[in-house]
Amino acid sequence: MAATKKKKTTTTKPKEPKVICQNKNCDSMGRYLSLKDFYKSRNLSIGRHPFCKDCVDRSVDITDMQTVYDVMQTLDTPFIKDVWIEMLSMEALNEDPEPSYIGSYLKLLNTKYRRYATYRYKDSIFESEYAALEKERAEAEAEKRRQEEERQKEKERLEEEERKRQEEERKERERIEFEKRLQEENMKKILEEEAEKRRKEEASRKWYEDWQGEYTEKEIKYLEDYYTELQKDFKIVTRNHRDYARKIAQASLIMDNAFNRMRENPDDKDAVASYNTATANFDRLSKSAQFAESQRGANDVSLGCFGRVFDAVEKHNFVPQHIPEDKDMIDKIIDQFSNIEKSL
Ligand SMILES: [Zn+2]
Repeated sequence: MAATKKKKTTTTKPKEPKVICQNKNCDSMGRYLSLKDFYKSRNLSIGRHPFCKDCVDRSVDITDMQTVYDVMQTLDTPFIKDVWIEMLSMEALNEDPEPSYIGSYLKLLNTKYRRYATYRYKDSIFESEYAALEKERAEAEAEKRRQEEERQKEKERLEEEERKRQEEERKERERIEFEKRLQEENMKKILEEEAEKRRKEEASRKWYEDWQGEYTEKEIKYLEDYYTELQKDFKIVTRNHRDYARKIAQASLIMDNAFNRMRENPDDKDAVASYNTATANFDRLSKSAQFAESQRGANDVSLGCFGRVFDAVEKHNFVPQHIPEDKDMIDKIIDQFSNIEKSL
């Protein structure tokens, strides 16, 4: 700025008080300046800053806040942090190469922030209220987040519990299902084993000359045992005696098999009918020969009717006929016994 003397100007406005900047190094070099060239203090006893606005502005370094505070203190004007920050952001937008921070601050404070009109330097607010509020808000936010996390954790804990409970239930269901399957498989295995056993038995069925028929080994054993029992109880001597004893044993076997079928299939009417038929045949046969179960073990061959049959046979009163092989065993026996009856 050129230090041109402007005596004409100063002399044309004599009413305006003239002031000299107290800074020895002022550019105006002791020249009289207008009052508006000096910042106004809120302390009426001071009136104006002793340095001109240019000198004050130059004394301020915004990276050293003490320089700002010193000016504010001299002007007995409050330093309000938030207003200062707002001014700085406005100046940054202005892109003024030589900004007057103090001038801009005072203008903003005196116009927009009338609520600080009565504030003096001692009333300064050095901390940002906005920041304090921001901090408070952040703390509240953090607390909210913390509570939310807590709720989330609790929710997850409950979900985990529920998940575990369902997992336990699932395992239990699987265990029950597994046991059920195992039982079913065991049952299936048992049935298969039984079926296999029956198949083997059936496969072992073959022709037995003595018994004039096809039998399984088990059936043959039954017949042989039955026959042996009869031999113990009765005097069986001739070929014919043996034949009758065998018929009785065979009738018993048929009845036994029919009984087993009926027991396995109690609702099967055919099985029941077969058993009834077999029982009737056996009874008829036994009674005809006086060979009823009640008389077994009497061991008195001469008293039993069967003994009488043998007696008759031995006396040649009874000559058995040859019975064709293709006739039903029971029928054969019944036929023979009817012959016996006739012969007695
Ligand atoms: Zn000056």
